[in-house]
Amino acid sequence: MMDSAAITPVTAEDEQQILDAIDKFLDRDVRPYVMDIEHADEYPTDMVEGMKALGLFGAIIPQEYGGLGLPTTTYARIVERVSEVWMSLSGIFNSHLIMCSAVIRHGTEDQKREWLPKLATGEIRGGLALTEPNCGTDLQAIRMTAKRDGDDYVVNGTKTWISNGIHGTLFALLVKTDPNASPRHAGTSLFLAEKGPGFTVSRKLEKLGYKGIDSAELLFEDFRIPADRLIGLEEGRGLRHALGGLELGRINVAARGVGVASAAMKEAVKYSQQRETFGKPICEHQSIQIKLADMATQVEAARHLTMAAAKAFDSGERCDMEAGMAKLFATEAAVHNSMEAMRVHGGYGYSKEFPVERFYRDAPLLVIGEGTNELQKILIARQLVERNPA
Ligand SMILES: Cc1cc2nc3c(=O)[nH]c(=O)nc-3n(C[C@H](O)[C@H](O)[C@H](O)COP(=O)(O)OP(=O)(O)OC[C@H]3O[C@@H](n4cnc5c(N)ncnc54)[C@H](O)[C@@H]3O)c2cc1C
Repeated sequence: MMDSAAITPVTAEDEQQILDAIDKFLDRDVRPYVMDIEHADEYPTDMVEGMKALGLFGAIIPQEYGGLGLPTTTYARIVERVSEVWMSLSGIFNSHLIMCSAVIRHGTEDQKREWLPKLATGEIRGGLALTEPNCGTDLQAIRMTAKRDGDDYVVNGTKTWISNGIHGTLFALLVKTDPNASPRHAGTSLFLAEKGPGFTVSRKLEKLGYKGIDSAELLFEDFRIPADRLIGLEEGRGLRHALGGLELGRINVAARGVGVASAAMKEAVKYSQQRETFGKPICEHQSIQIKLADMATQVEAARHLTMAAAKAFDSGERCDMEAGMAKLFATEAAVHNSMEAMRVHGGYGYSKEFPVERFYRDAPLLVIGEGTNELQKILIARQLVERNPA
């Protein structure tokens, strides 16, 4: 949960100004270029500079550490807008902010003062490094070890699928400081690992969608981390510290889902008025109308669930079930709407000259990242039972 004292209250007017600035940036600097850059799978360097200037890398970092300190509700609206134009861009600052969130919530005062101001400007960027080749959902099974050696820890192992892995330099790294601990999570710790000797990018991973943003495998060979980079200076709490950030991560991913679902719906509505068959626009055929109605309803419902989870998060209420429901529903809505938008477009939906094929390639990632949707269902059901004792 967010420390509500760290959030700067935002009036409806302030929020509108922020969202207008984001829209202006998206219309001027992103929309005209996204198709070419995405198809070439190029890192969007200029767009990243634009996002730095807008303060997005510090969106939820408290103002006392140089960020904007925005409430999660405003942040979710930003993520939705950005994802409507290009989901990958939101990934570049989302993954970074999940790492920041671990420092904000669990770091010592010295760690916050040292790292957050540079992270807020985007001068230092990075992400969260949890997944390994042998495990993603079952994070207690990680094999990466960190052994204490004087004032350092020595890290060995491999992380995979790490967003911002190539262009980022700082990562919240989940390791085992005690591989034999029982329960297994009590042997985990979370470090801030900055690239240096022994920390290399072993390969860039090629993907179906989510292009532009770099996904990489990271190799650690006798990599030394100073002991003062152990988040919270506490061994054995790594998994808790990492998973705490995932609640915010799930709200982020839900907001991305709303953005993609909404973009697909809007493209379908536009196209259905332009394309004619049998003497009338296809939006006048009942089977297309049913699709448009379903798509629009999914977007609205997904947005409500996402905002409800964001509000609960801001107020400091426990919201793992709400965040899980929002993530589950909004990401399935993105998958559903991207497929339906493709059908509405007929053959053109399959063409690289229209954006719907990108939504169709991007959406499935959302059901996997920040905890698969299968896992969300398990978590929701557990909460349901816990909150409703017989
Ligand atoms: C493009 C991309 C970017 C990513 N970015 C990052 C990142 O920045 N940092 C990071 O750490 N990771 C990242 N990941 C990894 C992602 O978080 C994992 O892929 C995800 O958590 C799933 O883990 P897995 O791939 O190991 O699947 P597995 O855990 O092997 O799961 C395989 C299947 O089994 C199901 N399953 C597993 N356990 C259970 C269970 N108990 N009950 C029912 N079903 C179960 C899963 O739902 C899934 O369907 C990224 C992945 C991708 C594709």
